[in-house]
Amino acid sequence: MYLGKIAEMASRDDLFWHPLHPYTQALLSAIPIPNPKVKRERIILEGDVPSPLNPPSGCRFHPRCPVAKGNCAIEIPELRELRPGHYVSCHYAEDSL
Ligand code: SF4
Repeated sequence: MYLGKIAEMASRDDLFWHPLHPYTQALLSAIPIPNPKVKRERIILEGDVPSPLNPPSGCRFHPRCPVAKGNCAIEIPELRELRPGHYVSCHYAEDSL
């Protein structure tokens, strides 16, 4: 969920190992790995969480999304099933498949 909207919905394993939404990817990148030999690239989100009383236009995540493009600020992404049982609300989630 991000600002009251479902960003991504999938089984625990599918979500954890194959996140498709940039917000999910950023959240999961922040989880520490208890093995000093394993490194994971941390995705740092810029800016603050906007007020849910006045959410951004288009995709609510667009002001902080590291891969936002032109129409992200205009069009609201639909929750689409991109893999069986794996739903994503992002115009460009196919780029992560
Ligand atoms: S729709 Fe655009 S702004 Fe929203 S998560 Fe996808 S790429 Fe980022």
